[in-house]
Amino acid sequence: MSQTRAQLFLKPQREASVLRRHPWVFSGSVARVEGTPSGGDLVGVFSAQGRFLAWGHFSPNSQIRVRLVSWVEDPVPEGPDFWRARIKTSVQLRNDVLVGGDTTACRLVNAESDGVPGLIVDRYADTVVVQYLTAGTDARRPLFADVLWDLLEPRTLYERSDVDVREREGLHGESGLLRGTPPPERITISEHGLAFTVDVRHGHKTGFYLDQRDNRQSLREALARRAMANTSSRLLNVFAYTGGFAVYGLAAGAGAVTNVDTSADSLALGRDNLALNKLPVTRAEDITGDAFDVMRRLRDAGQRYDLVVLDPPKFASTQRDVQRAARGYKDINMQAIHLLVPGGLLFTFSCSGAVSDDLFQKIVFGAALDTGRSVQIVRRMMQASDHPVALTFPEGAYLKGLVCRVVD
Ligand code: SAH
Repeated sequence: MSQTRAQLFLKPQREASVLRRHPWVFSGSVARVEGTPSGGDLVGVFSAQGRFLAWGHFSPNSQIRVRLVSWVEDPVPEGPDFWRARIKTSVQLRNDVLVGGDTTACRLVNAESDGVPGLIVDRYADTVVVQYLTAGTDARRPLFADVLWDLLEPRTLYERSDVDVREREGLHGESGLLRGTPPPERITISEHGLAFTVDVRHGHKTGFYLDQRDNRQSLREALARRAMANTSSRLLNVFAYTGGFAVYGLAAGAGAVTNVDTSADSLALGRDNLALNKLPVTRAEDITGDAFDVMRRLRDAGQRYDLVVLDPPKFASTQRDVQRAARGYKDINMQAIHLLVPGGLLFTFSCSGAVSDDLFQKIVFGAALDTGRSVQIVRRMMQASDHPVALTFPEGAYLKGLVCRVVD
């Protein structure tokens, strides 16, 4: 990194978002850069009049030219002590999730929302998995690895920076062992007292959809209440991955669970997860296939369910994809509503940041209207509290969900 710090001056009247502590400075707001910063270097950000505004990490290849890390001039936010203190704060804020031991996996650092732009850190029992998503974090890999190794004392520190967003930063995908012993093929974690097997080498994201933890718990509670009321509880779990919702469903006494996913490998891991929890595997069936087709076929075959979970992958990566994504969301929600009995519940999600809560509700409304059934919202859902959203950074709110009830 260069010794003299580069200074970046904004165009006139472009400082408002920086003053409101939004962590991104877009290339279009930049008037000029004094100095020759490399990717990831710490730069000072100044108003057009030359007033100091903030410090941030420079990303020469990204539209997001600087990711801000501090809004005070002194101390300069650099070096192991600074980052150790910041990461320690973030980790301590997760004590409430991990306390008691019935949950042993959670997100420890959630990037911008925890004041460390571009850094994701997830704990899976003794294994810690890290993603460096930006030039700023990539340039500090040894520093972050040392801090995490020292602070968290894991058995394994593993990297899963094999994600597309790095390309926008001009970086390639990277994954592999950073410190300690290689991770076992399967790590067993506990979530709300239920066991799950996680493959941190090949699993989605860093291995598991930790963000859905509390929504899976909501499903469990809904099912448990139905069991108490002797209401039937056949669950259709669409986009099942490794059966997260299925395990919670059967643990709450669901009469039957049908998992749908295109990945037979993921569904197989889901079977292992049921066995791991000594749940009645005979009550679970798996359908490998495309959700859009499978739901149509189930409807044609006259199948009906008491609960449907729809947890699709991200349909929209950018604003440009939103229209197409909206059609996809509408279609699956329509199919799901058709498949529900009167009084049935739909747990429906979108993890597309580009689809707002408001738009998502409109899409589900459109789907309901086309089925001709009356549908109510009975609860709103979001990502779990270890994936917080800084109020300065509304872009951090990506996961949204509705629990809907089909009236008749
Ligand atoms: N509900 C899961 C996470 C779902 S992730 C949990 O709680 O852990 C999304 C899943 O959708 C992935 O497993 C992926 O394989 C699957 N998928 C993607 N496109 C699909 C499609 N068209 N039909 C069925 N499954 C699909």
